Amino acid sequence: MTSQPAPFVIGIDGPSGSGKSSVSRAVATRLGAGYLDTGAMYRALTWWCRHTEVDLGDADAIIAAALGLPLEIGDDPQAPTVAVDGTDVAVAIRTSEISSLVSTVATVPEVRVEMQRRQRALIDDISARHGACVAEGRDVTTVIAPDAQVRILLTASEEARLRRRSLEVHGATDDAAIAATRDQVVRRDRDDSTVSQFTEAAEGVTVVDTSDLDFEGSVAAVMDVVAAARAS
Ligand code: C5P
Repeated sequence: MTSQPAPFVIGIDGPSGSGKSSVSRAVATRLGAGYLDTGAMYRALTWWCRHTEVDLGDADAIIAAALGLPLEIGDDPQAPTVAVDGTDVAVAIRTSEISSLVSTVATVPEVRVEMQRRQRALIDDISARHGACVAEGRDVTTVIAPDAQVRILLTASEEARLRRRSLEVHGATDDAAIAATRDQVVRRDRDDSTVSQFTEAAEGVTVVDTSDLDFEGSVAAVMDVVAAARAS
């Protein structure tokens, strides 16, 4: 009788602008693994609340929206799809409006319980189908998959993160662009930190600091951590 290798889970947490998404997708692609962007799920819920005119001051209404969220999320790291009630929202969930509202939704405790339940089920399913899953977010290494074979906290200095996000959103890194990006990076991380711990590594979590690394260097640093875990 042959036994199936245990599904391999790689959890990558980090603040905004750390390079989490692009690095996680590249790592998943290189490993032939499936991919889960847990942040996209909170963004999709925020989009759904706006779309269905849920009052974001009404926590019970947000919880009801989370429980009924008709979400379909793809696991292809090269083409991650997100649809809500049949509508493709992959682009709509990346607007500045959603970025500035998402923490309001994501900091409701009952919403987190529901999203974490869905995320655990998705990680089980994706890793069983692909043999491995790279899941990225804020609480993957601590709450969703604390027993993952690889747990990484991807960090970068605030300056580096502001610069990256500013370039991504505004196409510039002058003072005005950096100032306009601050809410989406510094304020959002502060709000998110009230419910998840992603500024310091929990026990057993490997820190990869990308402040002085370019994209390729960041991917290589994460691949090294994965290779070391696989070897053991
Ligand atoms: O990673 P991304 O910036 O797309 O995440 C969007 C938001 O989703 C975060 O600002 C945070 O409010 C929420 N989030 C979370 N827990 C996760 C992933 C994201 O609360 N595991």
